[in-house]
Amino acid sequence: MKSQKGGWHGGCIWVIRSDKHSGKSRAHWKESKMAKVDSIGWSHRKAVNAVIGGGCIAPTVILNITRCCTERCAHCAVSAIYGATVEKCADQAIRETEAGRELKLEQWLSSLDRLLDEAPATKFDLSGGDCLALPWVRHELIPWLVEHTSPSQVAVTATAATLRIWLAELARMVNYPRPGSVHITLDGCSEYSRDNLSIARDIRRLGMGIHAECPVTTNNVARDTIIRIYGDASDAGISEITLIRFFPVGRGALASGMLEPSPDEYRKAIRIWQELGRGCGPKIKFQCALKCFAQPDIQGACKIGPAAWCAMPNGTMLSCPWAYAQQGQPLHQDFVIGNITQSSVAELLANSVTSHMKTQVGTVDSCATIAYARLARINQEHAA
Ligand code: SF4
Ligand code: SF4
Repeated sequence: MKSQKGGWHGGCIWVIRSDKHSGKSRAHWKESKMAKVDSIGWSHRKAVNAVIGGGCIAPTVILNITRCCTERCAHCAVSAIYGATVEKCADQAIRETEAGRELKLEQWLSSLDRLLDEAPATKFDLSGGDCLALPWVRHELIPWLVEHTSPSQVAVTATAATLRIWLAELARMVNYPRPGSVHITLDGCSEYSRDNLSIARDIRRLGMGIHAECPVTTNNVARDTIIRIYGDASDAGISEITLIRFFPVGRGALASGMLEPSPDEYRKAIRIWQELGRGCGPKIKFQCALKCFAQPDIQGACKIGPAAWCAMPNGTMLSCPWAYAQQGQPLHQDFVIGNITQSSVAELLANSVTSHMKTQVGTVDSCATIAYARLARINQEHAA
């Protein structure tokens, strides 16, 4: 967890399981992990020490299982590979796996098993692409993950096309392990956003919570649009809406001229959302990169660090889930913190603190990913 002042605190949920299982003392564990980061420097070691010294954190790891998707949104950060149907999308994903660009089920299972051994309270958000298009995600990965953690540690983000298939399967399997919550996109303008709303009640009927994420673009910053989205979410029984900033990364880099709101548009839209959120309908939350518009005096809203990581489809671990270049590659090496198939939690932790330090230096925008994306664009234009 990151404090407002920029210091790091152990969140006291992460229990180092190696204490119990291998007989190593916590002091020994800490000593060996600190030796690995010895070469990085005192201020870095101090930051890592603060986290390890707390003895516990519970990172949230977004698992971008595949880049294949049944949608082709203009703002897509991962530049998803389009499959017109769920089956075509699943076939695409098989080709990506065969080409070695995406991990297989066995690789995910062994990586997650190792990660959970070190950090059993880790929370996961399975995403993509459209991860539910892959039958092994619905039938094997999700049940395995819920059984090895708890429902409240697992969330799934997907599109209506694949959610419908999965919900129908779950309805037939009464005791099947299911995650605590489902995240849907609700931007008030795309077709699948309306579709997502139509299945909100089915999700709740199956005992899962539902959260909506609303990417803020020039298409939905007008007052009447915001009021409509809020009303629709309220009617569908959604308890929380997280507003997401537009990222000029991935495919979004090409659409930023059309879709990216100006700072003034962001501020006006956020004021309307804040007014609505004071009522008794859904609560409104602001994603880290939007907080500078919601609370102008806020310091240190960036979540790069030990609290939140993202696994790319090939296992590369990023310190920010939006740090993608145009073809699904990392935006910059400064955001790469390891690979889920090889890196220990301690290495990911140490590298995420390094990533925080590297990416915040000289970053004028409040969001490091957006600052790096803009710089990459300027460099490209210079090179052309
Ligand atoms: S933004 Fe999400 S739903 Fe849209 S194409 Fe990308 S991965 Fe698919
Ligand atoms: S770089 Fe931007 S999006 Fe990423 S964690 Fe920091 S503020 Fe959030």
